Amino acid sequence: MNQATYPTPATFTRARSAEMFEEAKRYFPGGVHSPVRAFKSVQGPPVFFEKGEGCHLYDVDRQKFVDFCCSWGPLILGHCHPAVVQRVQEAVVNGMSFGTPTPHDNRIGKLVLDHHRYIEMIRFVSSGTEAVMSAIRLARGVTGKSKVIKFEGCYHGHVDSLLVKAGSGLVTFGISTSAGIPESFAKETIVAPLADPEALEAALRQHAGDTACVIIEPIPANNGLLLQDRSFLAFLRQKCTEYGVLLIFDEVISGFRVGFEGAAGYYNIQPDIITFGKIIGGGMPVGAYAASAAIMKNVAPEGPVYQAGTLSANPVAMAAGLATLTELLTPGFYEALEQKTALFTGRLQAFCNKKGYEVSFPPARR
Ligand SMILES: *Cc1c(COP(=O)(O)O)cnc(C)c1O
Repeated sequence: MNQATYPTPATFTRARSAEMFEEAKRYFPGGVHSPVRAFKSVQGPPVFFEKGEGCHLYDVDRQKFVDFCCSWGPLILGHCHPAVVQRVQEAVVNGMSFGTPTPHDNRIGKLVLDHHRYIEMIRFVSSGTEAVMSAIRLARGVTGKSKVIKFEGCYHGHVDSLLVKAGSGLVTFGISTSAGIPESFAKETIVAPLADPEALEAALRQHAGDTACVIIEPIPANNGLLLQDRSFLAFLRQKCTEYGVLLIFDEVISGFRVGFEGAAGYYNIQPDIITFGKIIGGGMPVGAYAASAAIMKNVAPEGPVYQAGTLSANPVAMAAGLATLTELLTPGFYEALEQKTALFTGRLQAFCNKKGYEVSFPPARR
């Protein structure tokens, strides 16, 4: 690292960030609009950033950083990729929202569906949480059943019935992890441990009669990285089919990340419904859920499962998503990304080993 360019801890300042945070706390609960931004689990006030460019961020104290967060996932191309900026600029001058279909819809829809073997129709929404919430409603609508099985350690956004943790038994009804969630909602969710085929089968044996779906992050990436063996995911697929329960892959973070077809393609496992977010909007607020045509035809107005959104498939957001996904389809993109990741994690691993830190960056097993 070039010490002249990058601040060292000794010279690093958060003076202006701290001032802004003090002001923000008067306006917003905790000073933020999403809890993790308050830096509660790291030290000091959050850093306020005002510019991003490629892999770099610039804060309000005029310091330059390397961005390893990438907005928690969406910025697979880094900040301000020229193709994305250009498409967004072209879209924005033509109007920011119509509340009608636009030609952008078909372009991004065709692009995604043409290059993803595991889905046939898709519905765009405005966040990952909204995608998961809608996918669960769809699963309930299709099956006529109400319960959801989720896994401990997986995050699915702030959907009421999924903000739950396990109780004391091995497979239990959820206990809500947030105030404001009625016990009756939490009870619709059954929490099972990851990587435990027996517990999963026990949950299904006991509850399949009133369970609509099992939802999993196929690559659980929100509590460290809780990589699952492919064999567990294959077992899950097989048991969901056997017990007549739909399988939802929540690919809000893994989608378009481990390959264009996400974890479904990476492991070659066909889920019934897939949720997307983060990368699919290229940094704009976009989510989506997708499935076979037979399942998606249950969504309104074609079917009885209601779901709507004033800003769904917003043209500017669709332009950012389309530009981003188009770049991902450049031959060699994912191979290059994998190489860069291996270089980065290899060095971090060596550093952690040398320091004796108990940190590991395991490569995925296909
Ligand atoms: C980020 C995330 C969500 C929630 O998406 P938001 O856009 O933050 O609402 C849901 N599921 C998974 C797996 C995620 O990583």
